[in-house]
Amino acid sequence: MNFIFRRDELLVRLDAGGFPDEEVCARLEVSLEPVWLEQGSPYRTAHVPPQLEAPDGYVFRKLRSLFGEFDDQRIALAGRAYQIAEWARTHRYCGACGAPMQRAAAEFCMRCPACGFSAYPRISPAMMVLVRRGDHILLARHAAVAATRYTALAGFVEPGESIEQTVHREVYEEVGLEVGNLRYFGSQPWPFPHSLMVAFTADYVSGDIRVQPEEIADARWFGPGDAMPPIAPRISIAGSLIRAHMPAAWAAA
Ligand SMILES: [Zn+2]
Repeated sequence: MNFIFRRDELLVRLDAGGFPDEEVCARLEVSLEPVWLEQGSPYRTAHVPPQLEAPDGYVFRKLRSLFGEFDDQRIALAGRAYQIAEWARTHRYCGACGAPMQRAAAEFCMRCPACGFSAYPRISPAMMVLVRRGDHILLARHAAVAATRYTALAGFVEPGESIEQTVHREVYEEVGLEVGNLRYFGSQPWPFPHSLMVAFTADYVSGDIRVQPEEIADARWFGPGDAMPPIAPRISIAGSLIRAHMPAAWAAA
């Protein structure tokens, strides 16, 4: 199977959304690199220049836009291919001594023949938490330009932190609340570019909402009497986390 990336876009067929075959890859004159083997067949990736146009019958699509359109298996494959291809593209030289790296045969490892430094694909854990208070849930709208959806709070793990500490720190930084009773909900690889989102619920303990304006435009409690705001689609873990705990009236709507 061949995955051709143009920056963060993936080349897919216009009709069925499949991946390019050998003939199309040959026509584009891309040099495909095998990234891994699955059930004996090679998965290969290539990066093409940003100005390259898609061939007839194909289109470059943002990987993110394929969520909800591709089935779970295909989106997982595309995300995995993107993360591995991006890792190989950005680790061609040793970060310690600058010598060209070599791909180790049996694992996802770029190794420096000069100094022995090894680089593995980077995975950045992040937490997401839905804070609950009685029959209300806390949802926030990000300060990022054009954000209209309300979602759960989220943030990256910092060096030296447990993921539980990240939950407490981020909730306090972003909305000024103390929470407790953390419960694991689930996790999802999020290849933008290399996160692993680990989702929790937590119970409100104390504090009044005080938003961090650089991060959060608005944060509030939503309960059974409130209209449902726009939320993330079910395919993202944010969407499934909120849907699993939202007021019953929303589910019926
Ligand atoms: Zn080195």
